[in-house]
Amino acid sequence: MRQPIHFLLKSPPVSTTLSFANLPLPEEQIANLNELGYAQMTPIQSASLPFILQGKDVVAQAKTGSGKTAAFGIGVLAAIQVNVFRTQALILCPTRELADQVSKEIRRLARFTQNIKVLTLCGGQPMGLQVDSLAHPAHIIVGTPGRIQDHLRKGNLTLNDLSILVLDEADRMLDMGFSDEVNDIISQTQESRQTLLFSATYPADIEKMSARVQRSPERISVETAD
Ligand code: ADP
Ligand code: MG
Repeated sequence: MRQPIHFLLKSPPVSTTLSFANLPLPEEQIANLNELGYAQMTPIQSASLPFILQGKDVVAQAKTGSGKTAAFGIGVLAAIQVNVFRTQALILCPTRELADQVSKEIRRLARFTQNIKVLTLCGGQPMGLQVDSLAHPAHIIVGTPGRIQDHLRKGNLTLNDLSILVLDEADRMLDMGFSDEVNDIISQTQESRQTLLFSATYPADIEKMSARVQRSPERISVETAD
């Protein structure tokens, strides 16, 4: 059916598709995104979020600085049941610096809601303090593969209730030789989980990893500048 002309003049289709308000998100999150100055979705966000919010596996590639963290972060927050005090989301990052950045962004994105606990677990930090923090499970854990594997081995952490797993900078994690750790961690999660794989590049290794750890993933690639 043709749209009435006044509608076309008032709202060009492009702004409609790029608005966070069209996503099935709580109003409080839409308001929070506005406060953060996220007026419109970036291309990778508009391409991936509809699938992520449907619970689908997604393998997404877009250059650095394109807003990948918010793409999976908004998805992770939408998947969390706040009243369930178990680790429901795990975000693996290749380095401590990246894990810290991701945690910071997740906390900003979580400002609309109370009581979501986010814990960062990386190497180079005292184990003891992390063990203390794990006494009360965090809804979301962000960390590096080696340290997460350490905690799993020592029984400090279980991933039985994980519903969403994110591999951020998956290309770098593979380059840095983390594939054994990542595979071991994934083997301790339920197959019913949602798995998101984010990467700045899309080499053959990523495709292989996707085939191993994802189910019928949507493949999204944004090559153009934002
Ligand atoms: P990537 O992981 O793709 O390298 P980041 O997630 O680190 O990119 O995002 C880069 C920057 O863009 C961050 O400063 C982030 O706050 C900002 N950003 C993300 N999404 C939006 C948006 N929709 N509107 C404006 N800025 C955004
Ligand atoms: Mg990133």
